[in-house]
Amino acid sequence: MSDKTIFEMIIDREIPADIVHEDDLCICFRDINPQAPIHLLVVPKKRIVRIAEASPEDQATLGHLLLTAKLVAEKEGFAKDGFRTVFNNGPNGGEEVPHLHLHVLAGRQMLWPPG
Ligand code: 5GP
Repeated sequence: MSDKTIFEMIIDREIPADIVHEDDLCICFRDINPQAPIHLLVVPKKRIVRIAEASPEDQATLGHLLLTAKLVAEKEGFAKDGFRTVFNNGPNGGEEVPHLHLHVLAGRQMLWPPG
């Protein structure tokens, strides 16, 4: 596997981030280039590269990311108004960082289809 990603550097506190939640399996922090008034990233501490490379042993971690999205939505107060969760996967999916992350976007009306 390639060198440490920016997200592993955030997990290891080598670069700063605005962290809103952390537990044994994941960390959640604000996206540096937000695409909505609220834009969080939920990142597993284990380096799963992307959904397409996840394995059955990652099942609990993947479920945990979604439940963490729910948790931070309640904690940050946007659960009731609604939000969007997104995994970008590979080049056509618009993925830039090869360390799995769940985007959680809120604070405005989302559009469909997405760009
Ligand atoms: P992707 O395009 O891979 O799905 O999403 C990567 C996300 O990571 C982008 O929304 C980008 O703004 C965010 N990002 C990239 N570098 C950093 C960083 O150093 N800190 C934070 N907080 N977010 C970052």
